[in-house]
Amino acid sequence: MRIFAIGRNYAEHIKELNNERPDEPVIFTKPDTAILRNNAPFYYPDFSKDIHYEAELVLRIAKEGKNIQEKFASKYYDAIGIGVDFTARDLQQKAKEKGLPWDIAKGFNGSAPISDKFIPVADFKNLADINFSLKVNDEIKQQGNTSLMLFSFDYIISYLSRFFTLRTGDLIFTGTPKGVGPVSVRNVLSAYIENEKLLEFEIK
Ligand code: MG
Repeated sequence: MRIFAIGRNYAEHIKELNNERPDEPVIFTKPDTAILRNNAPFYYPDFSKDIHYEAELVLRIAKEGKNIQEKFASKYYDAIGIGVDFTARDLQQKAKEKGLPWDIAKGFNGSAPISDKFIPVADFKNLADINFSLKVNDEIKQQGNTSLMLFSFDYIISYLSRFFTLRTGDLIFTGTPKGVGPVSVRNVLSAYIENEKLLEFEIK
């Protein structure tokens, strides 16, 4: 399985990082060694001094496909979970300044904690109105709603599949809303879809 991720999909987050609003989704990937499951702790790496959380809804691909038309895209994902797109902001900033790839800043070990539970798509009334949030030590830091996405789930699937064959089990991080920030050792992060806590882990 692969992990695809969308950058700059929420306007307010683009503003807080002074980024340009994209005409097409910004795509990057993480290796499967980035995944943390079962609420496993995140070990703060020694190569960064500025690890940021980014809470994101995660789509699970249910069927292989390429060149998927947007109108058929909903058949290709069956469940939605929540994850944290950990970013070594200091390394990313350096890469951005030099126009170099983000791989290390986004794909290092443990940079993708993901909920064990994924909620079936059929359980959502409206995919364009899903609330999700992130708390650090019981303080709400991020609150997002899918109505604020620049690119919808279906558009993301269609766009990605022009370049990459999507396979069953692949995961897609769909972008973070505003409120990203640094984590510290002993922080406890918890992530919610609507009012259900799906992910909780400690920074060690
Ligand atoms: Mg992100």
